[in-house]
Amino acid sequence: MNIILLGPPGAGKGTQAGRLVEKRNMIQLSTGDMLRAAKTSGTEMGKKVAEVMDRGELVTDEIVIGLIRERLEGDKKGGFIFDGFPRTLAQADALADLLDEFGEKLDAVIEMQVNDEVLVERILNRAKEAVANGGTARADDNEESLKVRLMAYYKQTSPLIGYYHAKGNLTSIDGLASMDEVEASIASVLG
Ligand code: AMP
Repeated sequence: MNIILLGPPGAGKGTQAGRLVEKRNMIQLSTGDMLRAAKTSGTEMGKKVAEVMDRGELVTDEIVIGLIRERLEGDKKGGFIFDGFPRTLAQADALADLLDEFGEKLDAVIEMQVNDEVLVERILNRAKEAVANGGTARADDNEESLKVRLMAYYKQTSPLIGYYHAKGNLTSIDGLASMDEVEASIASVLG
């Protein structure tokens, strides 16, 4: 089973993807995690995307499509969870082509709905908690970058809601509910 978790930053995609990995042996493909890993390890690509990511803008379609392509070639286990990908219509088209190429299909797109106030609060709390636990906050978990990230979501990513609705595989769920309730909603969509 291959699914997309769609939603703005702070909607809880990563948390729910983690639960699906544990319970359904699925593989989480988070382009954000892949890009941060490239940034940390200082690869050429990582250096190229660092500033764009820190500002909260989207990196190029070409880069993220390349990252996803590499992962689809490996073990499929219980299927893929696309977390933070696709984020543009071009990425959505590329994903459809890639799935075709690998003989896979998309089983569900789950849109996690959360309002802006909650998103901002969750993300700023995530940054505070990281620091309180002795770590460092994500470079883009600050108010300024967050504004840009939300704008990118509404401008470039939210058109995917209509795109997948038209294809008939979109289900929208309430992302404001507790983590367990959100998990249950996702489970009922996946069956
Ligand atoms: P995330 O961890 O999903 O919030 O992503 C963090 C940042 O990585 C985003 O703000 C973008 O700069 C970049 N990024 C992650 N996924 C994508 C994507 N699919 N397309 C473009 N940029 C992405």
